[in-house]
Amino acid sequence: MDILVVLEDSQGSLHRLSKEAIVGAQQLGGSIAALAIGDNASEISNVLSSYDISEIITVEDELVSTYNADGYTEVVKQVIEKESPKIIVAGHTYQTRDFMPRVSAHLNIPFIPDIVSLSDKGFVKQVLNAKLNATISSNREQIILSFQSAAFNEENIQSGSCSSRYFDVILDASMIRSTSEKPFQESLGDVDLESAELLVSIGRGIEKEENIPLAFDLAEVLGAEVSASRPVVDSGWVDSFRQVGSSGCNVAPKLYFSLGISGAIQHVVGMKGAKNILAINKDKDAPIFEIADYAVIGDILEIIPKLIESLKNQ
Ligand SMILES: Cc1cc2nc3c(=O)[nH]c(=O)nc-3n(C[C@H](O)[C@H](O)[C@H](O)COP(=O)(O)OP(=O)(O)OC[C@H]3O[C@@H](n4cnc5c(N)ncnc54)[C@H](O)[C@@H]3O)c2cc1C
Repeated sequence: MDILVVLEDSQGSLHRLSKEAIVGAQQLGGSIAALAIGDNASEISNVLSSYDISEIITVEDELVSTYNADGYTEVVKQVIEKESPKIIVAGHTYQTRDFMPRVSAHLNIPFIPDIVSLSDKGFVKQVLNAKLNATISSNREQIILSFQSAAFNEENIQSGSCSSRYFDVILDASMIRSTSEKPFQESLGDVDLESAELLVSIGRGIEKEENIPLAFDLAEVLGAEVSASRPVVDSGWVDSFRQVGSSGCNVAPKLYFSLGISGAIQHVVGMKGAKNILAINKDKDAPIFEIADYAVIGDILEIIPKLIESLKNQ
């Protein structure tokens, strides 16, 4: 095999970033195997059976029935040692960030994380707070990569068919020294911004805490989640897990409502993967309009209540 895609189980489904990683692997070219680990490996393997990859490798062992860093490190290490893929790829998720550096260190394979695109010269990643792009290449025989959210579009997965097989790992309890808590979004009310299809995102233009319920009301009528820019989070008006941007999360919804957000680069890096951006801002020169698909120049405090009313009356 040329490429091994390490998949992530997102509460029984294939994680969106794993789908994007498959698209990235398909664009790299070569024979692709995907590795599914844990209790849901068979279900995930069924989802993948219609994708254009060579094979799915499943690992089911009670010591890795759910994610733990030691177990996953050992499983991925054993698969790489046995199968010798040239490139190992994964989505740049919290889980990947937790265990993949250990795989890299154990096997002495370089890890280039957080790649945003591919170029003829190598792998492109953002540096200096996303102000510059750096292209990195490697002359090593093997390399590990992780792809940033929305680096690739999951809708571009090429379909086909593939076979599947089990991989026997050798694990014993003494190898597992760590246990993982539940994914953090579960303990925070099942809000998973990275997988949300519709986001109502609020910026400093919301002006004061008393106006925040407007955003939640709009989100409710739309069936959306609420996200925010950093100043809104720093003011303590919404929880920090809702922050989008370079020091928050990366999102890629089908529609991103940007309400009173200027469009600073640190915010834009977290939402530029949105398929459609509708921005409302009272400043016609706000940078957000450079990337918006739909631009409304106006006051959100006037527009949001009217929008909610009109949606409720539909
Ligand atoms: C190291 C570092 C990391 C950072 N990480 C992040 C990050 O992860 N996420 C993030 O978001 N930021 C981050 N920032 C901050 C970032 O630089 C910007 O300051 C921030 O994104 C601005 O947020 P904003 O657009 O809500 O506010 P502002 O830039 O103040 O923009 C408010 C906008 O609202 C408009 N407005 C005002 N009132 C109204 C109204 N009534 N109706 C309509 N429009 C109105 C204004 O015209 C303006 O464009 C980071 C900065 C640094 C230095």
